[in-house]
Amino acid sequence: MKDKRFLVPIVTGLVCILTYLAFNIISEQKTKATVVEINNKVVFTAKDKSQVEDTIAKIIAREEKRIGNKVTLASRPQYRLALVPKSEIASQSEIKKILEESLPLQTSAAQIKVDGKPVVCVANKDTADKVLADLKANFCNCGENEKIVKVAFAEKVEVETGVFPAREVLEPGEALKRLETGDTTPIEYTVKDGDSLWLIARKHDTRVANIMALNNLKSDKLKPNQKLLISSSNPLITVEAVVEGKKTEVIPYTTRITTSNSVSSTQVKQPGQNGEKEITYSEVRKNGRVVETKILAEVITREPVDRIVVTGTRTSYTMTASRGGSHVGGLSWPVSGRRITSGYGARSGSHTGIDIDGKIGDPIRAAAGGTVTFAGRQGTYGLMVAIDHGNGLTTRYAHCSSILVKVGQTVSRGEVIARVGSTGRSTGSHLHFEVISRGSFQNPLRYLD
Ligand SMILES: [Zn+2]
Repeated sequence: MKDKRFLVPIVTGLVCILTYLAFNIISEQKTKATVVEINNKVVFTAKDKSQVEDTIAKIIAREEKRIGNKVTLASRPQYRLALVPKSEIASQSEIKKILEESLPLQTSAAQIKVDGKPVVCVANKDTADKVLADLKANFCNCGENEKIVKVAFAEKVEVETGVFPAREVLEPGEALKRLETGDTTPIEYTVKDGDSLWLIARKHDTRVANIMALNNLKSDKLKPNQKLLISSSNPLITVEAVVEGKKTEVIPYTTRITTSNSVSSTQVKQPGQNGEKEITYSEVRKNGRVVETKILAEVITREPVDRIVVTGTRTSYTMTASRGGSHVGGLSWPVSGRRITSGYGARSGSHTGIDIDGKIGDPIRAAAGGTVTFAGRQGTYGLMVAIDHGNGLTTRYAHCSSILVKVGQTVSRGEVIARVGSTGRSTGSHLHFEVISRGSFQNPLRYLD
């Protein structure tokens, strides 16, 4: 080579290529290792077979201890030797994790089926029966005066023994919880207008505290469209219990109002007294919730005593001393129109009310809420209604053409109680309206709003 100008670049290039190759050979250095297959699928590559077998033995021992039955492999792993890059060899923790997930471990166990559908597996039939008995017992809480007549599952529940995957076998406590709550994977709920935590909890058969804990809520204030995670329980089996019990109930007394010509004011002749009855009932409860109640027997152990009120019909009221006085208010106008044709105290001071003009058939309305103490014909008043408003205040509506209420009936302010007429001693159709306070006639205008 005459020209040496190219020597340096060529040598430099060769060194680079050799360094590159050497690096590759070292890093791609292959080693003898064990490829592990489970059910004809490569799961990992291990340093050697014994490491895998030791790990499998430990997992089996742990499962046998947990379940209490012999645990076997449905099929053994397959091993083959291969030259693999060192980087592909799995670590001990990877091996353990993969084996726990993929080993076909099996054991003899008992499976609980609900309406033909497998729901949980436990170690054996005795355990399954015990779990089912505990489930029944958990929903059989009854009160002091109650007894359980019948308890059964609403669904068809069977226990089937056989060989099942070991990881499906639950400990008794876990199995019971699964049957009681079902799948509790949280769902997302969007808060609607008018929602409250209590309503949402009721709707999803859960508790406010559970929702608050799951969502880290500090207060129970909700915003519309707020998203909440809700985990609710959906029992896999329904425990149906029939309960019989006894309870005592109060029989409220009734008030009877009678009218008498011999009294001039309202008097309580007999105070009322509540009675008592003993009720025998039967209830159907599904998972502790009442779905049906039947009364089997009712025995009255103490009769209620009526409250008897006697109210006078005689107009033995006295005219109030003052015809004027300050405005009291509180009563509404019994007929619309409001033209007063004869005022209180008119006709030489003998007019006990006001006459309000009206056409026959116009509605007469209660001036305030109260109890009807008189409804009928009353001498010169013609057809009359009297209403007791309490606190010693009574209003009377006279000369009616018809009466629409009965004695003892409760009426509210503004309710139509009668119709304008001209019965009794009356000239022309009008309403004679009286206000009586503690036995004295009052000027109705002081009371009308
Ligand atoms: Zn009058």
